[in-house]
Amino acid sequence: MDKVKKRVLVVEDEKNIAELLAYNIRKAGYACDVAYDGRDGLNRALTGDYDLILLDIMLPIINGFEVCRTIRTKSNVPIIFVTAREEEKDKILGLETGADDYVTKPFSVRELLSRIKANIRRSSGELITPTNNGKNEKYESTTIIAGDLNIDCEHYSVTKAGVPLELSKKEYDLLVFFTSNIGRVYSREDLLEKVWGYDGYYGDIRTVDVTISRLRDKIEDDPAKPKYILTKRGVGYYFQA
Ligand code: CA
Repeated sequence: MDKVKKRVLVVEDEKNIAELLAYNIRKAGYACDVAYDGRDGLNRALTGDYDLILLDIMLPIINGFEVCRTIRTKSNVPIIFVTAREEEKDKILGLETGADDYVTKPFSVRELLSRIKANIRRSSGELITPTNNGKNEKYESTTIIAGDLNIDCEHYSVTKAGVPLELSKKEYDLLVFFTSNIGRVYSREDLLEKVWGYDGYYGDIRTVDVTISRLRDKIEDDPAKPKYILTKRGVGYYFQA
């Protein structure tokens, strides 16, 4: 029996790029739809059952940032921004749009496909985490309790002192990873590899800092004086409960 294909939506107004992306995404084994403006992209994103959205920023009718924000009010689908310029990259890092990742144009098709694959894999709950004996093990469906945080891994829901938190997919993944490895210090490169799923290089470590800062805003009583996610100066981050 055929396995159901994962579905990718490409929102990109430059026809040549959109077609090139769709061609390669289909070739890699995914189903792929294309929208050529922000409004159509948003409609499709909200009504279609997609596993990942590739989103251009400069789009007709509604720009990519707005599209992303609106999708995020309704869905946790992984979103990868495709940016044309450095300034846009900084804007993504600075804005709380809720995107999971970004790639900068021009990009290699191989790099982009590896990002798509990593983000879909994370989102399907196949997050791999090292256990104490160093082997890799899949998460069990379970509840994690850390301080006043309660993480229901079966329903992807998190509460703090009984109050539900709205976490993006990456914030959630990061929190589950930290709370499954309490006390262990991870460099930003480690986290990029373990939580974002990048082998070696492909990501920007600032992505890690930004996601940690957003997560602290949500889970810490005082994000300026965190008590859960702590910084090990010059090394990385660790979680304490
Ligand atoms: Ca564009």
